[in-house]
Amino acid sequence: MKKFSMIATWRMAFEGVQEGLSLLSNDNGSEIAVERAIILTENNPYYKSVGFGGLPNEHCEVELDAAWMNGDTLAIGAVANIKDFANPISIAKKLSEERFNSFMVGKGAEDFAHKLGFERKNMLTERAKRMWELKIKEIQDKKLLTPYDGHDTVCILGKDCNGTIIAGTSTSGLFMKRSGRVGDSPLSGSGFYADSTVGAAAATGLGEDIMKGCLSYEVVKLMEQGVSPQEAAEKTVLDFSKKLRQRYGRCGAISIIALDKNGDYGVGTNVEFSFVAGYENEEAKVYIANLIEDKVVIEVASQEWLDNYEKRIKTPIEELK
Ligand code: ASP
Repeated sequence: MKKFSMIATWRMAFEGVQEGLSLLSNDNGSEIAVERAIILTENNPYYKSVGFGGLPNEHCEVELDAAWMNGDTLAIGAVANIKDFANPISIAKKLSEERFNSFMVGKGAEDFAHKLGFERKNMLTERAKRMWELKIKEIQDKKLLTPYDGHDTVCILGKDCNGTIIAGTSTSGLFMKRSGRVGDSPLSGSGFYADSTVGAAAATGLGEDIMKGCLSYEVVKLMEQGVSPQEAAEKTVLDFSKKLRQRYGRCGAISIIALDKNGDYGVGTNVEFSFVAGYENEEAKVYIANLIEDKVVIEVASQEWLDNYEKRIKTPIEELK
């Protein structure tokens, strides 16, 4: 049994998980650690699919989705489609304290956040605007609308020394999405689920497909039946990807992280997927998961991979293509 543990989607969560683990090791609860970890990710202007610097919708507006779940009480809070707030995760967390109106969208959510004094911020960076302009040009040149790349969600699952498990998600959703589009990330059961007596799971990838399978809930249900987090996440993604290809003709990218009540974690994916994990006595590390012959193979990210990543996200704006 690990006293505390954290797992998160994508390399972008690294700094947050580092800090989250340090908070957990100093006896802070997972509520504090997960919120702080996601805020750090939201605040980083180089992470182009979450918070400040997130890629905009078709009208060049950054619309954000976020959710929060407390695995002790099963309380959920979520926001979708909000603009101009620095930290959607904190608004979602606040909403999880509400008996009613705990999932709010658009203007209503913004009014609520404004009234409570959450920080307002223009979330569109010069870099994200430039990427939008380049994408518009590409669409015009190719006469083809192939947006939707450049999406990712930061999902963080944390367990503290008291066994409380928290799940949090935050994303700007799909690049070039239609205004008003909402993915899986703020949707309980699809984008995330947490039950401290069992474990938690959260998803990233094409929300429209993740929602077809309620995949996070599915993973937690399997863990409840005694399946390990690794097997539960792996089996859920693999089986569902196959099912969707058969029944719907195709399946988008899907990756899932899982954490059980003992603090053990697992990952399922149908694409190359980076994630960050650490626990008591094991510092945060970036891992890469790949699906090879229907098996998820996980390795620690090489220095070369990490350097390339750093270089890519910090490409000078003038050199963006
Ligand atoms: N699942 C997110 C969405 O569909 C995007 C992602 O995680 O890549 O909005």
